[in-house]
Amino acid sequence: MTPHTATPVTPDMLPGFAARLQTLRAELLDQLRQQRGGEIGRADAAANARSLAQGDWAQSDAERDLAVALEERELAELNQIGAALARVTDGSYGSCTDCGADIGVARLQANPVAERCITCQTQQEQGHGHVHTPSL
Ligand SMILES: [Zn+2]
Repeated sequence: MTPHTATPVTPDMLPGFAARLQTLRAELLDQLRQQRGGEIGRADAAANARSLAQGDWAQSDAERDLAVALEERELAELNQIGAALARVTDGSYGSCTDCGADIGVARLQANPVAERCITCQTQQEQGHGHVHTPSL
């Protein structure tokens, strides 16, 4: 069922990936904090990130829209990093969230927050949320 073989992540590699993810997250939180005038702490930034990402930001002010758009991209990334760290913790890191195949070390080194194998990621990008359809 897995025509695609990638070098799987081994448990001894997890601390390295976790450290990279934590660094990425810290850098992003720093950016967010600077954008917001340094008035909020990291924990607050993370909490805010969540509510901002879900909140409705129907602002008419153009500058505000721009700031929010920039933040939302970072917030989406922050969420991805958080999800990746959660997968390190629960042991599913390195497995495709769609099909369970190994994402592969090379791909994760290039993109530590990757949550799908290259096959599923390609489908996702092309396929508008299309699910696996067995060919006849
Ligand atoms: Zn997959």
